[in-house]
Amino acid sequence: MRLGNLPVPKEAVEVIEEQDISELYPPQEEAIKAGALDGKNLVLASPTASGKTLIAELCAIKHVTEQDGKVIYLTPLRALASEKYREFKKYSRLRKRSGTRVRVAISTGDYDSSDPWLEAADIIITTNEKTDSLLRHKARWMGDVTLVIADEVHVLNDVDRGPTLEVILTRLLEFNPKAQILALSATVRNAEEIAEWLKAGSITTEWRPIKLVEGVCLHNTAEFNDGSSIKIGGDYGDSVLNLVAYTVKQNGQALVFAETRKKAVSYAKKIANAVKKLLSRPEKRSLKTVSDRILAAGERTRVSDLLAKLVQLGVAFHHAGLSASHRKVVEDAFRAGKIKVTAATPTLAYGVNLPARMVIISSYKRYVPGYGRYPISVLDFKQMSGRAGRPRYDNVGEALLIASTSDEQDYLMESYVFSKPEKLWSKLAVERVLRSHVLASIASGFAHSEQGLYDFFEKTFYAYQYGSKNIRPIVAKILEFLYKEGMVNLDGKRLFATDFGRRISELYIDPLSGVIIRDGLYNRADSLTDLSFLHMVCHTPDVAPKYYPRRREMDGLNVFVGAHRGEFMFEVPEEWTDSVVYEEFLGEVKCAFVLESWINEVSEDNIIERFSVQSGDLFRLTETVKWLLYASHELCRLFGHKDLLAKTSALERRVKSGIKAELLPLVGLRGIGRVRGRALFNAGFRTIKSLKHASIGQLTDIPMIGPQVAKKIKEQVGGLVRSDEWERLRREVGEGQKQISEY
Ligand code: ADP
Repeated sequence: MRLGNLPVPKEAVEVIEEQDISELYPPQEEAIKAGALDGKNLVLASPTASGKTLIAELCAIKHVTEQDGKVIYLTPLRALASEKYREFKKYSRLRKRSGTRVRVAISTGDYDSSDPWLEAADIIITTNEKTDSLLRHKARWMGDVTLVIADEVHVLNDVDRGPTLEVILTRLLEFNPKAQILALSATVRNAEEIAEWLKAGSITTEWRPIKLVEGVCLHNTAEFNDGSSIKIGGDYGDSVLNLVAYTVKQNGQALVFAETRKKAVSYAKKIANAVKKLLSRPEKRSLKTVSDRILAAGERTRVSDLLAKLVQLGVAFHHAGLSASHRKVVEDAFRAGKIKVTAATPTLAYGVNLPARMVIISSYKRYVPGYGRYPISVLDFKQMSGRAGRPRYDNVGEALLIASTSDEQDYLMESYVFSKPEKLWSKLAVERVLRSHVLASIASGFAHSEQGLYDFFEKTFYAYQYGSKNIRPIVAKILEFLYKEGMVNLDGKRLFATDFGRRISELYIDPLSGVIIRDGLYNRADSLTDLSFLHMVCHTPDVAPKYYPRRREMDGLNVFVGAHRGEFMFEVPEEWTDSVVYEEFLGEVKCAFVLESWINEVSEDNIIERFSVQSGDLFRLTETVKWLLYASHELCRLFGHKDLLAKTSALERRVKSGIKAELLPLVGLRGIGRVRGRALFNAGFRTIKSLKHASIGQLTDIPMIGPQVAKKIKEQVGGLVRSDEWERLRREVGEGQKQISEY
C-alpha cells in the first residue's frame, strides 16, 4: 500500500516522504485496513521498529487537520515522551482547516498544575503519570480529546506503572466515550483481551523490518531458531567476549545484557580489552571526542571517569546508576556507530530504542534486591532480543542467550526461544497503588458515592480480568482508611474529599505519605534540623525503593542514629524488638544521610565512595524528595504551620541543587549550579548585587567561570559593563556557542 494513496492531507504525506518512506509496512497496512483512519479503536501489537508510531502519526494528523480534533499521546517514560515529541514536531508545518498551524506540545513535569496552556495545543505528548495528575487537576481540555494514543500498553503488566495507565485509560474513555483509542504494544499473548476491554479491534503481528533470529550459544557455536548456526572464534575463553569480537570484526555492533550493574561494568571492562585492538585510527579519534563529552557533562566521578576511559576503547556500560546526561552521550554515540559495544542492565530494553546487530543476553537470571536471583520472563527475553537488528544497517538481527552445558542449551531453547510471551495481568489491586486512585476518584469529583467508586473500578482491566467482585473489598478498605485519616467525609450518602484529601490528591503523593507528613509536622522533633525534614519525607512510601543499608554500613548508621536521636519526627524503633522494622528505618536514615551530605555540598564522587549511591540513583532520590518537600510546604500552608514555610521551601531548593543555604541566591541564575555557585561564593560574590558590581575580568578570573558564563551572568544580573570589556567578551564567546551546561 502506497503512502500517497492514503486519505490524509498531501502535505502530511510530503512530511513523511522526506524520511524516505513511501510504502507502508505490512502491520501498518493491516492497521489501515482495520479502520485506523476511520476512527476505529485498535490495539496494535507488533515488535519494536515495526512502524507503530507512523500509524499513530497518521491518525493524529487526520484528527487534527480534518476534524479539528485533539490528540493525547501517552508514554510510560519521560525519555520516551521526548523521543516522540521530536518525531511529532515535524508536523508543526501543517495547517488545520482554520488555517492555523498544527501545535504539538509536550508536558511531563510539575504534577501540581492543570497546565492550562495545553488547551491551545492539538497534539499533546505526555506521560501516564502526568496525565493522571492533569485529570486530578480537572484540566478542562481533557473533554475535547478525540484521539487517545497509548504507547507501550504492555506496561499494564508492571506493578509500579501499570495501575496508573489502567486508571487513566478507564477515566479517559469514560470522559470521552466518543474518542478513538489506539493502543500500541509489544507482541503479547493476550492483546485480544486488552482489545476487548478497550472495545477495540486487535492486530497482532510478528513482522519486523529486519529478520530476527534467536538462539543459544554454547562454547563456540551459536544455534538459531531457523536451524542455522555459526561458529565463532574462541580467542577469549568466554562466549560473550568471543561473540562480541566476532560481531565487531564484521563491522557490527553488539548489545550485551547483564544481570546487575556490577556485571555490566565488569563485562564492559573485559570487552574493551578485546575491542580496542579492532579499532581504526579515525575511530579512535572520534571516540576521544565522545569520551571528552562524558567528562564535560555533569560532575566528574569515578564512575564517569571509568566510562570515559572505556568509551575511548569503543565500549560503554549503561545502567540506571549513570546520570541522564551520561546515558544520553552513550546512546547517541552508539546510534552514530561510534561505540561498538554497550553492556547494559535489562532496563535499557524498556527505555529508549537502541538497536544493535547482535544482542547477547549473558544471563537468563535477574537479580532482585532483597530477594535473590530469578529466571527472567519470556516477555523480558523478547523485549531484549527484539533490540537485535538495526534498520538500514543490518540484514539480520541476532539475539543469543548463553549456555554453559548442552542441557542448559536445550532448556533455554525450549523455555525462551521457542516460547510465547506470557499473558499480561492487571496489577491494580495492590493497596499501595490503589490508595491514591481511590482518593483521586473522589477528590476530582469522578465518584460521589461508594457505589460510584465501585462502578468506576468495575470498568478497569483488573475487573475485566478478575471479575468486578474482587476489587470491592480492597476499595472498601481503602475508603475506610481515607475516612479515618480525614481525607474523605460523608454528607448523607454523598462522599466528598476534605481540603486535606483534595490537596493530597492534587499533590500527587500517596495518601499514606500525606498522613506521615501531616503527623510529622504536628509532632515535630525535639530539635528541628534539616535531618528532621529529610527523614520525615524518606519515611513515606513515595520514597521507594529505599536504599538498602549494606552490612558494613550498619555500624556507621547506628552511630549516626545515636548522634541525631532528638532530630527525628517519629519515634526511633527499637533494634531488638523488631529487626525488620529497624532495618527499614536504617534504610530511611541512609536516604536522609545521603541527602544531608548532598545539601552540604559533598561531591557526587564522595557520595559514591561513602554510600555506594551513584549519580543516577541520587538524581532520582532528589527528584522525589524535592517533590515531597514541596508537598510538605503545601501542607504547612494548609495546616497553619507558618513557622515552617520558609524552612521547607529553602530545603526544597537546596535538595534541587545540592547546596548549602548560603548559595541559594546564586543558583537561581541560569548556568550556575552548585560547583560554579560555590566558586563565585568563595571568590566573595555572595549576592546578586555583588555580581552586578563585578567586572568581567573579576568574573573570568574565577575557576569554572569562562567568558561564556561571565556573559550569561551579566546578561541576567544587569549592572554596568565597560563597552570595551563587553566587546571583548562577545568576540571571545562568538555566536552559536550560547548554550552552557549547569555546573
Ligand atoms: P515502533 O513504534 O513499532 O517501535 P517505529 O514507528 O519507531 O516503530 O519505526 C521504526 C523506524 O522505521 C522509524 O525510523 C521509522 O521512520 C521507520 N519506518 C516506519 N514505517 C516505515 C515504512 N513504511 N517504511 C520505511 N521506514 C519506516
